Amino acid sequence: MSDSITLGANGELVVPRSPVIPIIVGDGVGPDLWAATRPILDGAAAKSGHGPIDWLEVPAGEIAHKTTGEYLPKSTLDALRQYRVSLKGPLGTPVGGGIRSLNVAIRKELDLYACIRPVEWTPGAPSPVKSPEKVNMVIFRENTEDVYAGLEWPAGSPEAEALIGFAGEKFGAKMRPGSAVGLKPMSEFGSKRLIRLAMKWALERQAPSLTLVHKGNIMKYTEGAFRAWGYELAEAEFGGQTVTEAASQPGDKRLIIKDRIADNMFMQTLLRPDEYSVLAMPNLNGDYLSDALAAQIGGLGMAPGANVGDGLAVFEATHGTAPKYAGQDKVNPCSLIFSGAFMLEYLGWADAAGLIRRAVAQTLADKIVTYDLARQMGGLPPVSTSAFGKAVVERL
Ligand code: NAP
Repeated sequence: MSDSITLGANGELVVPRSPVIPIIVGDGVGPDLWAATRPILDGAAAKSGHGPIDWLEVPAGEIAHKTTGEYLPKSTLDALRQYRVSLKGPLGTPVGGGIRSLNVAIRKELDLYACIRPVEWTPGAPSPVKSPEKVNMVIFRENTEDVYAGLEWPAGSPEAEALIGFAGEKFGAKMRPGSAVGLKPMSEFGSKRLIRLAMKWALERQAPSLTLVHKGNIMKYTEGAFRAWGYELAEAEFGGQTVTEAASQPGDKRLIIKDRIADNMFMQTLLRPDEYSVLAMPNLNGDYLSDALAAQIGGLGMAPGANVGDGLAVFEATHGTAPKYAGQDKVNPCSLIFSGAFMLEYLGWADAAGLIRRAVAQTLADKIVTYDLARQMGGLPPVSTSAFGKAVVERL
């Protein structure tokens, strides 16, 4: 009989043998991706003695709007909260609706403050870099503050004009009249809880280093504070287990805390990727770096992700709805497959996740790939989403 995932006394997940897991299938290519992914997750769970998973399909996006008149029904948010761990396909942003983005709305409603993106190359996948096997990083990106807080006003609006006037009068801050204005709030609370999660993750997995990625040389009181709060947190809460890069000696087994300015970090991830492991960063840096790193492992179609809060997590393909391919059974399902594998690992089913990763690698090694990888592999004949999914199931 299936049951809900609950929280233990120390806030840890208690996962029943057969958990109920909500699934948002998503818009656009979402239904194609889910049809290919579900048998892989079910098959891997069964083969490693877990499950069966009781998938609970909950509506969101276009499908929900057609049936309920709402893009994000309250019953869906309630289910994501109640069952704690969920999987999600891509959701389009309603044009002209009152919602800025459904994905952002879910993150805000559930306070999923960390976007986690593991970036690891799968053998057999094409890559634009010479040594993709050196790429193995996990990005922790702050989800609720910085420029994604949505605090911006159009050029010439009364709000923008009032802010320009206020800042000029009170602080002598000069802004050209008629400018658009945006705010970039970053708090100690928001930064530290993200960095804390990343540090715990790194320590639990015995990662060699954690790098704070910031633009503090220019934005001293926002991005610079993120860096300072990171070092402060490491010393105050993880003092015995961490050491700064400057103080570390060769052979030190403690987690090394480094920091890098964001522009340099883009170069580092291309030239010296094996020197980096867990990365913690504010929102906008994380937004850019996540996709740049995804390119190194074959593109967005290969990149898994999760949005995580305290005791709640929504795993999701990192790309959008790819509307031009909707219903064509064409796109790469690996992003959702790997997000599902990442979710199984989060549930404590690392054996099932490992089976999936090996089966996908074997499928790629057999040169069975969708169009996006095929075009990077000298024009191999591509297979459909469903054929790729079947090939992975056969190799589990
Ligand atoms: P997109 O849906 O991510 O697609 C951009 C391009 O990425 C596609 O045209 C395709 O490239 C490639 N791509 C995406 N998914 C792929 C897959 N599974 N396999 C292979 N290639 C894949 O971005 P968009 O067109 O800018 O956004 C469309 C809608 O999605 C918007 O409404 C946006 O708001 C929303 N969105 C949602 C999420 C989310 O749900 N988390 C994230 C981003 C965007 P080629 O054209 O080169 O084949």
